[in-house]
Amino acid sequence: MPNKITVLTGDYIGPEIMAAGLRVLEAVSKAGHFEYEATTMPFGGHAIDECGEPLPQRTIDECKNSDAVLLSAIGGPKWDAAPKRPEQGLLAIRQALNLFANIRPTEISPAMMQYSPLKKIEPVNFVIVRELTSGIYFGTPREQHADYALDTMRYTKAEIERVSRVAFQMAQHRNHRVTLVDKSNVLATSKFWRVVVDEVAKDYPDVELNYSYVDAASMKIISSPEQFDVILTENLFGDILSDEAAQITGSLGTIPSMSTGDQKPVLYEPIHGSAPDIAGQGIANPFSMINSVKMMLAHSFDRADLAERIGKAVDQVVADNIVTPDLGGKYGTKEVTDAVIKNL
Ligand code: ATP
Ligand code: MG
Repeated sequence: MPNKITVLTGDYIGPEIMAAGLRVLEAVSKAGHFEYEATTMPFGGHAIDECGEPLPQRTIDECKNSDAVLLSAIGGPKWDAAPKRPEQGLLAIRQALNLFANIRPTEISPAMMQYSPLKKIEPVNFVIVRELTSGIYFGTPREQHADYALDTMRYTKAEIERVSRVAFQMAQHRNHRVTLVDKSNVLATSKFWRVVVDEVAKDYPDVELNYSYVDAASMKIISSPEQFDVILTENLFGDILSDEAAQITGSLGTIPSMSTGDQKPVLYEPIHGSAPDIAGQGIANPFSMINSVKMMLAHSFDRADLAERIGKAVDQVVADNIVTPDLGGKYGTKEVTDAVIKNL
């Protein structure tokens, strides 16, 4: 059985960087004898145009039937007045595939250090595991009245346990450290997270667990990011910290992410949006999608060797200063992708 990948090409720069990612996937697969079958399905804005729905049922079915989903950014001004929003598709696909853990790496390799706003001497490499389907974004009651409003942060033991296991297992493949980020000096949900995570930690004796309050953690991401390996946190804190963490690498256009649940498929996508301001110009940074392909090969298909090959090729291209304008370069998406493929 070939490895099955569902491809959701996205809107605006989505298809431009997806094309780059798929070219790299094809090249590295040929070189490394990796067999796969990629099927493109409608999703997002162009799915609204084609079939009136941002997430058609047949796309859900195809995703469920595959090992991994590669997704590029969707939405944009074209659908501002549409009866349905492309972004509804994004929430719907997370729910349909039960993707409760969102993983975002922050990696500043020696080659990429020149683009970081941090003036660090050491390379940085940590991941944030964010709970994605519960917490204050989903809790009820949620009410707005004339003179007060309220939101509800609620977590069950099962919700904390399952995302914690993702973080601990990830740490076992990395540097064996998990930092639980919370606000347990104030919040009941945070105190509860500590109780549940302490319990889960007993199953992973080879992983060191420590704790940080979210305010302190946001400081440390700037001042001493090298101390982190895996950051585990709830939905709201993870949303904020992962944007902060992305920014210290220098460009939104380089960072991939992965969303995972109890079963297949795992979904991989760049963290940025569809960048309507630069669409059609051929200058979108393809690294975010190429890095998404890299992450997919390592995590869904157990091909760390191919992932490493891609990583090294990207580093070489960066070292040669063959980069797009968002990183201060003068090269286009295609030239950068060609250079990556040449270095594979
Ligand atoms: P969304 O709400 O979908 O997250 P956003 O408003 O956060 O979208 P993005 O689409 O992520 O915005 O774009 C933010 C800025 O980053 C834009 O100026 C865009 O051109 C730039 N950008 C995003 N992705 C890339 C990329 N791959 N290459 C170059 N520039 C990018
Ligand atoms: Mg955004």
